[in-house]
Amino acid sequence: MLNGMREAYRAFMDEHVYPAEPALAREDEAADEVMLALRERAKAEGLWAPHLPPEAGGSGAGFLAYADLNEEIGRSVWAQLVFNCQAPDAGNGEILFMFGTDEQKERFLRPLVEGETRSFFSMTEPDVSGADPTGLQTRAVLDGDAWVIDGNKWFSSGAEGAGFGIVMAVTDPDAEPHRRMSQILVPADSPGLRVEPVPVSGHRGRGWSTHCEVWYSGVRVPAANVLGERGDGFRIAQKRLGPGRIHHVMRWLGQMQRAFELMCSYALEREAFGGRLADKQTVQNWIADSAAEIQACRFITLDAARKIDAGDDARVEISLIKFYAARVLNEVIDRAVQVHGALGLTDRTPLAAMLSAARAGRIYDGPDEVHRMVVSRRILKEF
Ligand SMILES: Cc1cc2nc3c(=O)[nH]c(=O)nc-3n(C[C@H](O)[C@H](O)[C@H](O)COP(=O)(O)OP(=O)(O)OC[C@H]3O[C@@H](n4cnc5c(N)ncnc54)[C@H](O)[C@@H]3O)c2cc1C
Repeated sequence: MLNGMREAYRAFMDEHVYPAEPALAREDEAADEVMLALRERAKAEGLWAPHLPPEAGGSGAGFLAYADLNEEIGRSVWAQLVFNCQAPDAGNGEILFMFGTDEQKERFLRPLVEGETRSFFSMTEPDVSGADPTGLQTRAVLDGDAWVIDGNKWFSSGAEGAGFGIVMAVTDPDAEPHRRMSQILVPADSPGLRVEPVPVSGHRGRGWSTHCEVWYSGVRVPAANVLGERGDGFRIAQKRLGPGRIHHVMRWLGQMQRAFELMCSYALEREAFGGRLADKQTVQNWIADSAAEIQACRFITLDAARKIDAGDDARVEISLIKFYAARVLNEVIDRAVQVHGALGLTDRTPLAAMLSAARAGRIYDGPDEVHRMVVSRRILKEF
């Protein structure tokens, strides 16, 4: 499919990414060097920014094509960064491309696509529900020709070492709830901005892999740094989060498939109670159920991608696959860990790290319960 692009990504993964995983997982200065070299190689081979169209500096050919490639890329947690299509930069790049002025594109989008900088998306706050963003409290007030931002965000992924962030802030407190907020571009070196990683599942992370608390204390940025129109914050967030959610699911397909393959291989290898694990019916059930569920996730994802390419916002399809695939992801990896016994919890397979990362998938970009609510509300409207 797609002129051999998937094969090209697969070959690059086999030859360069999987062998580098142990070094990358150490997350030290040597790992940074390995990552830099991988990124340069990926760029030189034209395997760069496949989520963006060529007019935005990427190599993309639409959502459906990206779904195909992203399943390959998603197999390794590091590969999205290698190919410069990592969250949250991919979503930030997309909204900058869609809503940015020429000046914003030159100042923020171009270096992002070139891979010269990274970014973060600052929406969730520790003191109020992130699932219901109408209650967000961070304020931006216009003072002459500058926005002055005050507030406290957290879970701004990748904020450590990023060049800029996009912050959701209340600019119009008296407007109707979905017109109160705007998205504002904030250079990370702005005075008054402080970033601190919050360890997640016992993991502090480094640079791109951090999830940070960010304090904005009288941060001043030019009035022209608002993205889209003032009050467009929710509208743009929907444009960003919808595709962003499905980018995650595409990568989860890669994670599920890799866990599944490890489970099958090990079940054929390991013996207990006089026979191979592959001959025990419980293990066979896990293999059969996983195969069916992964394929279901794949088809729902492709269906949503097709609809997005056709101009539909695919709200129901995206919410449906977000909560369903998050469950399948966790279950398939958990089964693979179980088949591996104690080995599955060591770092001699990628499974333990995959399982830990998968748990967050049921929460970020909207918890399962909220996506179920969205799906059922839309379905019930038909009756
Ligand atoms: C690894 C990770 C990375 C993240 N990265 C980012 C990022 O880069 N930028 C950013 O802004 N945010 C980020 N987030 C934050 C994430 O999007 C929020 O955690 C999420 O939206 C939920 O918000 P909350 O944590 O405030 O939970 P709350 O809104 O307080 O909800 C808590 C729980 O209440 C339940 N609940 C909520 N609403 C309902 C409902 N209607 N019906 C039933 N139950 C409900 C759910 O079980 C939910 O888990 C990240 C989170 C994680 C875990």
